[in-house]
Amino acid sequence: MTESTPAQSLLNINALLDNPVFAGGFGLASLGAALAFARRGALTTAGMIRRRMLVNVEISQQDPAYPWILAWLSEPRPQTSFLAKRLTRINKLSVSTATSSTPNGATKASFFLQPGYGRHIVKYKHAYIAVSREKQSTAKTNTGEPHETVELTTLYAHRHIFEDIFTEARGLALQANEGKTVVYSVRNFDWVPLGEPRRKRPLGSVILDEGVKEGIVNDARDFLERRQWYVDRGIPYRRGYLLYGPPGSGKTSFIQALAGELDFSVAMINLSEVGVTDDKLAFLLTKLPERTIVLLEDADSAFVNRRKRDADGYGGATVTFSGLLNALDGLSASEERIAFLTTNHVELLDPALIRPGRVDMTVRIGEATRYQAAQMWDRFYGDIDTDGSNRERFLARLDGLGLFVDLNEGEALPRTSTAAIQGLFLFNKNDMEGAIAMAEGLIPPKLEA
Ligand code: ADP
Repeated sequence: MTESTPAQSLLNINALLDNPVFAGGFGLASLGAALAFARRGALTTAGMIRRRMLVNVEISQQDPAYPWILAWLSEPRPQTSFLAKRLTRINKLSVSTATSSTPNGATKASFFLQPGYGRHIVKYKHAYIAVSREKQSTAKTNTGEPHETVELTTLYAHRHIFEDIFTEARGLALQANEGKTVVYSVRNFDWVPLGEPRRKRPLGSVILDEGVKEGIVNDARDFLERRQWYVDRGIPYRRGYLLYGPPGSGKTSFIQALAGELDFSVAMINLSEVGVTDDKLAFLLTKLPERTIVLLEDADSAFVNRRKRDADGYGGATVTFSGLLNALDGLSASEERIAFLTTNHVELLDPALIRPGRVDMTVRIGEATRYQAAQMWDRFYGDIDTDGSNRERFLARLDGLGLFVDLNEGEALPRTSTAAIQGLFLFNKNDMEGAIAMAEGLIPPKLEA
């Protein structure tokens, strides 16, 4: 066994280094290692600096703030400094189109420009903010659509700016919807605004029988003022209303007008629609937008519990009775919840539905009464029928046609819909004689025989 002294081993290493092949390889390797080390070091330092000096906020598409932030980013922000002008120009935009139908059937489209996918820089107050709008590779499990996020990054020192941004973005969104009612409908598993926000429908434009409107409006107002009462008693803070009656009596119009009056949005879902299953309904109700009246149309379809078939013979599932009850019972949140159910077939509903907490108030919105016909006349012709004499002629004509047959101690049995009366007046704008002459058209077909 030979032992080498330290001097010898040094010699050996020197000999090794003198070997040009080895020295070249060693040199390169150590240079590579040093570079890799330096690079790692630089990355770590950069990462550390980024963590220490930068702060970012990620907003997911699922969050209500997502559209607000996109709208806020699209706001023009004129910049004064040269650098800000160069840096903050958003060159890549994407378009978001909303279409809505006007009552005469024409469709209207509005376009909103938003920052496109990728990276942008915006300057807000004194802070530069890097914006990154990305489509994530993970698709939403329920819809298969790619998930989207927006990430805002700024200097740690400017972190307080985010609060201002969110407040401003929310303010802008509220301002854009001021005087308007946002109506949401269901797309896949999400609530999406149905077209543009509509101008608030004035309550006065919906004419229900005497006292009916006031009764519901006062009840809803009273409910909204009683948050503490519910909290103190540990009762879910929600209220349910059931409106029933024939189609065209103003149920939907009234709910929209009420939403406008209370400054709420409306989220509508038709329970008779194929594909609206128990799970879907329960899921959607857990993620209602804030300050929203939920409108469950055709509530009776849950009781028929049928399976609809479309043209291809596909039998899609619809909501079941227990699914609807569970959804209503689960309708609780930290904020108030108002639910409206509508049906044209109240006789099909199960009494289990009419329980406090599910349906607290049931109101029939029926065919037009004499009172409603008179009120509608005044709304349409009030300014030209100054003494009301033509209104009386019109009402007498409806009486003559048997549309308000008085039965049982004067109780009216009305027989035409308010929608039909509105149609008649719209057809005869400013033409009272025309409306009176054509009143016969109000007789529903089944009564003509
Ligand atoms: P429903 O939901 O009861 O079927 P809608 O609210 O959809 O009825 O009414 C259909 C149309 O008729 C709407 O254009 C609405 O303006 C009009 N209408 C119906 N009833 C009334 C009413 N009571 N007051 C004012 N408009 C009404």
